[in-house]
Amino acid sequence: MTKKIIFTIITIFILGFYYFYEKNDKLLNIVFIDVGQGDAILIKSQNGKNILIDGGPDSDLAEKMSKFMAYRNNKIDLIIISHPHRDHYYGLISVIKKYKTQKIIYSGIDVNLQDYNYMKKIIDEYNLVFIKPKLADKYEIDEGLYLSIIYMPKTKTVDNLNDASVSIKLTYKNFDVIFNGDASCEIENIILRDNSNLKSEIFKASHHASKYSNCDNLLNSIKPRITVIQSGADNKFGHPHQEAMDRIIKSGSKILRNDELGDIIIKSDGDNYQIYSSK
Ligand SMILES: [Zn+2]
Repeated sequence: MTKKIIFTIITIFILGFYYFYEKNDKLLNIVFIDVGQGDAILIKSQNGKNILIDGGPDSDLAEKMSKFMAYRNNKIDLIIISHPHRDHYYGLISVIKKYKTQKIIYSGIDVNLQDYNYMKKIIDEYNLVFIKPKLADKYEIDEGLYLSIIYMPKTKTVDNLNDASVSIKLTYKNFDVIFNGDASCEIENIILRDNSNLKSEIFKASHHASKYSNCDNLLNSIKPRITVIQSGADNKFGHPHQEAMDRIIKSGSKILRNDELGDIIIKSDGDNYQIYSSK
């Protein structure tokens, strides 16, 4: 066989593998991407919808994501920017440039900073639809897979940008996950007041497991089995704080950390779930 034929056969095999993988996984995949000190979560639905919550602080997110994006399915159906801090949005610029993105949900609160304005400019250039949801809005992502807004800031400005975080509950049949941005305990109490059922198997710790977030009231209501902490090794904030981790453990949850495990992948069929990690 000539080199060209061998190359073609190998290429067909690789493409076939990706297609097979994409067609047959049929599970909800939640990838907590290891972006150091910041949040970035890729949600891949059972039938191939891609949702990205936050983008981490670095311009290489699109490259980091590529290992989770199959050849035949490289569009992003929805991006959610929890709040306008760089460790949550900056990597999105690379994603919007690389992947065909449809819509963006955000808190409605902007900041007048160079990096943020640049991201907004890119969003404009790509004609993306910007959506400011309302509390309790519910989006059907795929069959039996829903995304609900459990917190939205009501004002145009806030004293602490962390408290502008859009909070989300993802429900796939009997499996629930809460993504809490960088909300403080004050906001957690509002989430408790405004939502009757928060019980979830998985919880994305508030604010990289800061001690000013992740308070007992919310944890006792979510009753997570697993809490994922997205914080970078040796970060200048000292996240995750021991006080927050003590409260999480006391609530009966296990802790998974990106700084220890690398990328963390949770797969679910809507009832059970399995956990994988890159380290
Ligand atoms: Zn943050």
